[in-house]
Amino acid sequence: LLPIGEQIQTFARTQPDKIALIDEKGDTDWAGLVSRVNRMANRLRASGLKTGDTVAGLSENSADYMMLYLGVLTAGGCMVPLSGMASGETLALMVNDCDARFLFVSQKNASLYDEIRDQLANVTADLRIGIDYAPSDNAVTLDSWLGDIDDTANPAPLSLDDPFNIIYSSGTTGTPKGILHDHRFRYRQMRRMGSYGLNSEAINLVSTPLYSNTTLVSALPTLFHGGTLVLMGKFNAHRFLELAEQHRVTHAMLVPVQYQRILAEPDFDRFDLSSFQLKLSTSAPLRADVIGQAMKRWPGNIREVYGLTEGGISTSLDCGAFPDKWDSVGQPTEGAEVRIIDEDGHELPQGEIGEIVGRAGAMMRGYYHRQEQTDAMLWTSPEGLSFYRSGDMGRLDADDFLYILDRRKDMIISGGFNIYAVDLEKVLLEHPAVADAAVIGIPSEHWGETPLGLVVRKVGESLTESELLEWANARQGKSQRLAGIEFRDELPRSTIGKVLKRELRAPYWKQ
Ligand code: ATP
Repeated sequence: LLPIGEQIQTFARTQPDKIALIDEKGDTDWAGLVSRVNRMANRLRASGLKTGDTVAGLSENSADYMMLYLGVLTAGGCMVPLSGMASGETLALMVNDCDARFLFVSQKNASLYDEIRDQLANVTADLRIGIDYAPSDNAVTLDSWLGDIDDTANPAPLSLDDPFNIIYSSGTTGTPKGILHDHRFRYRQMRRMGSYGLNSEAINLVSTPLYSNTTLVSALPTLFHGGTLVLMGKFNAHRFLELAEQHRVTHAMLVPVQYQRILAEPDFDRFDLSSFQLKLSTSAPLRADVIGQAMKRWPGNIREVYGLTEGGISTSLDCGAFPDKWDSVGQPTEGAEVRIIDEDGHELPQGEIGEIVGRAGAMMRGYYHRQEQTDAMLWTSPEGLSFYRSGDMGRLDADDFLYILDRRKDMIISGGFNIYAVDLEKVLLEHPAVADAAVIGIPSEHWGETPLGLVVRKVGESLTESELLEWANARQGKSQRLAGIEFRDELPRSTIGKVLKRELRAPYWKQ
């Protein structure tokens, strides 16, 4: 078992000229990657980094940022990739919460850095380093900091229990929590993802940000197995297609809204995408009609993955093999198990709806500094096994395929009936004039809560609210009727494309 820092050293010897990273600035081969990673690692150790120390990074995707990540791991540090979409307040909270002693920032995040620089508790002035610029208060760039440090391979001796990274939850359901993964977690994941073809032959186009677990789940295994990453700084559907064609891309991990945007590109069919073997999808439901379109027009298979950054719960759906199961997120992956429980923690029989709990080989070490919340994630089965609670509502069918209905907190309880937004959203999306839809619960004197549809019409469509309401309610059960429809220009989404229901609900629940 090799930690990734040791594993990649071999590629500098066995395939030095093969391209490891491609970004807007150019190509880096494996010899160049390993040399720079070693220099970063040696410099971090020389600056006092001890095994397990946290290093925060605030940057868009780039080859240098990816190499910094690997440098931290090679030095034995714990990487904390932060989101440049967070507010200054949240960002300062995260840097301090993870006890970071080093902070690396890119120029694109310079003003955000200026907002937080007086609030950093543990990062001394000399260890605030600009990746591609000189920060205003100390003028240290990555290159000047590296100086003439040599590139001798000296990976820190690590055990699988040593920390690998802390990923902050996006906060779609509350204050961000630091999710701590160790080398064991990533090692198992990297091995497993190798079986999806993320190996030395893979050319993986990375278009989601490196601070998201969604990205790391496919980017890290590609490098662990000696493949190639094409890194996009900022997602753009047209540019994605250009890069995919130009670099003969074989793999991509995308979130559902990206599929929709890419397929909606007017010249989609003119690109040669024949090199694609597999596209992965995760983080939100991938609609069956989108799977259908992609399977028809975009070469290669699709695999939908369901999981939490915390780990512990893992299912996947091979869309090519199971065309009649596209509404599900597939079956538990090898070594994983899923069960459904009721509100009192009793296991429910197959087919019934309840909270999804799961156990798998790879689980987080815990929420950083939050033992109580870590313990609250656990459910113990009657045989004494520990499962993770997902906070998602779902059901298993007779073939063990899992169907996600809603986040528990998003479930609408109307007149004592549980209403799952996904059922109503599915109906709305079947209307030919509807481009996007979300259903939320709003206050109702009579029912407690009642469902409201927020809908984006397709361009040029003139459908009215009452027409759509009548159309949709004619297709629902009586207890599932929508109370109203409102049209929107777009739905608010997190940086990785999840609909922000908390934000949609807020104005209706104000006192
Ligand atoms: P927070 O905990 O703050 O809400 P988050 O949304 O970033 O943070 P993640 O770990 O990224 O948390 O997301 C896990 C959740 O994403 C799951 O609990 C589920 O609701 C949703 N999800 C993930 N994959 C899928 C999928 N394939 N289909 C539907 N939903 C999914």
